[in-house]
Amino acid sequence: MEVFKEIAELRKSLKSYRLQQLSVGLVPTMGYLHEGHLDLIRSSTNQNDITVCSIFVNPVQFNNPQDLSSYPQSISEDLDKLNDNGVSIVFMPSISEMYSQRAETVINFGKKGEIMEGKFRPDHFNGVGLVVSKLFNIVQPDKAYFGQKDLQQLVLIKLMVKDLSFDIKIEVVPTKRESDGLAMSSRNARLNADGLIIASMMYKTLKKGEEMLLNNFSIEEVLYKADVFFKSNKGINLEYFNVVDLNTFKILDSGQPDDTVALCVAANVGGVRLIDNIICDNTGSGEN
Ligand code: AMP
Repeated sequence: MEVFKEIAELRKSLKSYRLQQLSVGLVPTMGYLHEGHLDLIRSSTNQNDITVCSIFVNPVQFNNPQDLSSYPQSISEDLDKLNDNGVSIVFMPSISEMYSQRAETVINFGKKGEIMEGKFRPDHFNGVGLVVSKLFNIVQPDKAYFGQKDLQQLVLIKLMVKDLSFDIKIEVVPTKRESDGLAMSSRNARLNADGLIIASMMYKTLKKGEEMLLNNFSIEEVLYKADVFFKSNKGINLEYFNVVDLNTFKILDSGQPDDTVALCVAANVGGVRLIDNIICDNTGSGEN
């Protein structure tokens, strides 16, 4: 496994692989790797000759300095996990390598980037768009792997790939969960024992909402139930609980969905911001 910190060195190495007509998969991460990340890695190593994993805690996508400074890191453990899972190249640039000057280009995803995460984390998606397009241009992979866990990010990246004609196939990997349903996240490391139990209720609320929709309850009833639940649980500070149409990516407030929808939640548990979602396709075969 090769480890590069400089863009020029990485490009040189990738050029030689490309000359040999080897396929390249990219898995962008912010490190502190867990089994969810490793599912992405394994999908890539199964489908490509060369897998590049980037580890970069991208400062421009953090709107909260406290969240950035407390983001967990474990480089040597990460490198062991990547090596054990067949990664060929790790790219771990410094901030100055990625942003030798403050980026002036702004990526604006329009209305789909203004709801949910975009509403509660202003500028977040601009930062995501910048770093992902930089990584796409640096690595020029055949395929890039993203988790359903960050559903809105995934939707926007797919749009960006289309709109900007990146010649890259986006592969989606389902959310990996703990046995109690809690979505794996690097941020879970900052939860204490109580926080872990409380956080797992986010998934239970999503599942309850899904069950209600599948049993013909209306979206108002689902939102009301979630509202009552979050208000009565002091350990969870809800940011949003939304039902979105997966085709239009618009928030639905009422009625019964006749299309595939996603239930999306963001909440603070003990000062740790967590997000989760499930897809409900109304035919009873929804994901996880
Ligand atoms: P992050 O390091 O949090 O930026 O995540 C890097 C990639 O891993 C993103 O595409 C995430 O959606 C994905 N990811 C994070 N957590 C999970 C999970 N529990 N299951 C599957 N993919 C995940």
